[in-house]
Amino acid sequence: MPKNIAIYGSTGSIGTQALDVVDAHPNLFNLVALSAHSNIDLFIEQCLKYKPKHAIIVNEAKYDELKEALAAEDIEVHTGEQSLIDLAKDADFEMLIAAIVGFAGMSSTLAAIQSGKKIGLANKETLVVAGELVMEAVQANNTELIPIDSEHSAIFQCLVGEQMDELSKIILTASGGPFRGKKPNFLANVKKHHALQHPNWTMGAKITIDSASLMNKGLEMIEAKWLFGLQNDQIEVLVHPESIIHSLVEFIDGSQKAQLGLPDMKLPIQYAMAYPMRIKNDFPRMSLMKIEKLNFEGPDLKTFRNLAIAMEAMAKGGNCPAVMNAANEVVVKAFLENKIGFLEMSDLIEKSIEKIEFIQQPTLDEYFETDKKTRAFCSSLFK
Ligand code: NDP
Ligand code: MG
Repeated sequence: MPKNIAIYGSTGSIGTQALDVVDAHPNLFNLVALSAHSNIDLFIEQCLKYKPKHAIIVNEAKYDELKEALAAEDIEVHTGEQSLIDLAKDADFEMLIAAIVGFAGMSSTLAAIQSGKKIGLANKETLVVAGELVMEAVQANNTELIPIDSEHSAIFQCLVGEQMDELSKIILTASGGPFRGKKPNFLANVKKHHALQHPNWTMGAKITIDSASLMNKGLEMIEAKWLFGLQNDQIEVLVHPESIIHSLVEFIDGSQKAQLGLPDMKLPIQYAMAYPMRIKNDFPRMSLMKIEKLNFEGPDLKTFRNLAIAMEAMAKGGNCPAVMNAANEVVVKAFLENKIGFLEMSDLIEKSIEKIEFIQQPTLDEYFETDKKTRAFCSSLFK
C-alpha cells in the first residue's frame, strides 16, 4: 500500500525535491494534498501531474486562476492560511512534509501533529520558535517528527539503535557558506547576488542567505536541541567546506559516528518519507576515492556574529529564539530587497532582542505575539 502524504510548500526547493522522490518511487507514495503560496504556474503544473485530492494556494489573489485551471479535475481547491491548518487536521494522510519556509509553516505543522500525523520536518523555524511546545505535542499525540534538514537527518540516522543516555554530544557540520574565511570589511560590501551563490547546495533564497551569514547553523543548533532533547553544551559546530560529512555524534566512550553522502537533499527527504524503511534508488553515489580530501576548521564567531547571537539566544531560552527568528526573517527579506547591508542584519537582530520583552515560559499565543511585535519593531529600524 502506498503511503499517503501531504507536501506543504511543494513549489519550493525542498517541495520540488520531495516530488522528485515521489517520481523515483511512484508506487510507494500517494499525494493527498499539495500547497503553494504564489508560484501559480508551477503549482498548476504539479496539480495536473499528481492530481492530489486537495490543492491549497495560500495567496487568495491566485485562487480563481487555480480553480479555473483545475476545473476539469477531481481536485478540491482551497485558499488562505486557515485552509493549511484545517487540512493538516482533517485530510486523510499519514505524513506531512513540512516544507514551507519560515514561521509561516508553524501553525499547520502543529495542527498536523495535534491530529496525530507524522511530520517530515524541513521547516526548522518551527522548532527554533517553539521547540519545547512542538516536541511536547509530538509526545502527547504519540506521533513522530523525522528531520529533513541534512545535519539533523545525519544525527537521527547515527542514533538509530543507540541509547540517548550514552550520547555525550553532537557535532553539526557547516559548509561555511560563500563567505568562509572573509572578514567584516569584505562582508560590509557584499550584495545579494554574492550571498545567493552557495558553494555546495541549491536552496531557497532565505536559507541561502542564512547559510552565508551562518544564522542557518545557529537555527540548526536550536533545532537540534529540541529535536534530540540536548543540553546547550552538548551541541558543537564544525566547519567542513565539502559538505560530505553531514554531521557526527559522540558517545560517552569517546566513539564518534557520522553520516556521509553527496550534498543532495533528496537523500534526507527520501529517508524521512520512507522511515523506518530504507529504499533503493538510483541517485548519484559518493566516492571518497574521488573526493580524496576533507577539510575542517572552527567557526569564526567574530565575523559571523549571527552564529554567536543564536548561541546566546539558545542559552537565554524563553521567547528569545522566537525574537531572533522573526527579526532574522525581516532582515533577510530586507537584504534581498537591497534595503540593508549584509552586516546590518546582525545589528538589527541584536536591537530586536534588546527591545522585545523577554518571556521565560511563553504560551503558544505568546509566541505568536512575540513574532508579530518583533516583525513590527525590526521593520521600523530601516526604510
Ligand atoms: P523555498 O523558498 O524554496 O520554498 C518555500 C515554499 O514555501 C514555497 O513552496 C513557497 O510557495 C511556500 N511559502 C512561502 N511563503 C509562504 C507562506 N507565507 N505561507 C505558505 N507557504 C509559503 O524554501 P526551501 O524549500 O529552501 O526551504 C523550505 C524550508 O526547508 C525552510 O524552513 C528551510 O530552512 C528548510 N530547509 C531547506 C533546505 C534546502 O535545501 N532548500 C535544506 C534544509 C532545510 P511559493 O513559492 O508558491 O510562493
Ligand atoms: Mg541544514
